[in-house]
Amino acid sequence: MATQTQTTGGRKLLFTLAALAAVVTVMVVAHYRSRPERYSREGVWTAGLIPYRFTVPSGALAAGRATKAFDRAEGALAAVNAVMSVHLDGSELSRLNAAWADEPLLLSEDLWYVLDAARRFTEESGGAFDPTGRAMFQLWAQAGQARRLPDEAELAEARGHVGWDKLTLDGLWAMKLDPDLQIDLGGIAKGYAIDWALEELRKSGAVGGLVEVGGDLAVFGQAPGGGAWRVGVVDPFDPDGPPCGVLTLTDAGVATSGNYRRFTLIEGRRYSHIIDPRTGRPVDEAPSVTVIAPDALTADAWATGLSVLGPAGLAKIEQSPGVEAMLVTGTPEDHQVHYSSGFQRFVDPQNPIRLGQ
Ligand code: AMP
Ligand code: MG
Repeated sequence: MATQTQTTGGRKLLFTLAALAAVVTVMVVAHYRSRPERYSREGVWTAGLIPYRFTVPSGALAAGRATKAFDRAEGALAAVNAVMSVHLDGSELSRLNAAWADEPLLLSEDLWYVLDAARRFTEESGGAFDPTGRAMFQLWAQAGQARRLPDEAELAEARGHVGWDKLTLDGLWAMKLDPDLQIDLGGIAKGYAIDWALEELRKSGAVGGLVEVGGDLAVFGQAPGGGAWRVGVVDPFDPDGPPCGVLTLTDAGVATSGNYRRFTLIEGRRYSHIIDPRTGRPVDEAPSVTVIAPDALTADAWATGLSVLGPAGLAKIEQSPGVEAMLVTGTPEDHQVHYSSGFQRFVDPQNPIRLGQ
């Protein structure tokens, strides 16, 4: 009898445990089902009122950690604007631009890093990408406002104040040798901001992350749902339409430059916002350029540089490790697409590049 009672008690216990396990399983499944696949935040960056978006796969990450990471990523965007904006009088870059010749200035590590990288990209691009060209960029910006083309004398004068030889960088100390040297990091600072913001997402412990600012972006790790990130390429002939192809990639930056959104109209003609520092003139019929690189800073600088160089610049891309590019030239009716040798590796075979469809 005693044995029988024990057996009945054991069965009861087993039944209770099984029921408990079933309830816990249902609760866990329900919990994960109710969790979103991703956490995201959207906003507008004060630098030029550019929209941004942060995304991380939710995975095992607590919502609170994602919120904190997004706050820090927003802090990174704000910090880059405060340091590198040419539109804020109080920014560090504005102070450098306003400095006298021979006046030493101690730079923040962020500004030093971007200036040093910019100087390197100027060298590698043979002067096509050159943020010291601000005197010329400004001339064309003013021309756009006044609807009057700059004259030869103005162009020659501006050209005389361009070049990295007019700035010394010694450790964190910078000194202008020409008081009229003006620097504009508009072609590279966005990439730096994206990389910094992505670093903040990475520190949260997320298994992956995406930072997209005004169409340029960087990603790391896994996309929501696992695997690489899928990134649509904007069709330069139909920028508001569906993407003209899809890239699959991770641990990379992607940037696009072109004249399809940003240009100036003077006497009925479109002038690109990208200036060829070698001639002092806006890039003629700037092609649309998409660059993939190990980080967004590199992608941003090369997208601007290749807009100046055109397809001939692809030879320089072949010498830059981890950098790939796609250039579109011509008109919607008669266009050409030029690729660096490794670009197609990143194109989703199900969604190949097809323009103007
Ligand atoms: P992006 O949109 O990245 O191609 O950068 C364009 C911005 O970079 C312009 O609005 C200017 O502020 C600046 N810029 C224009 N031409 C050049 C150039 N050749 N090299 C570096 N920066 C440039
Ligand atoms: Mg750029």
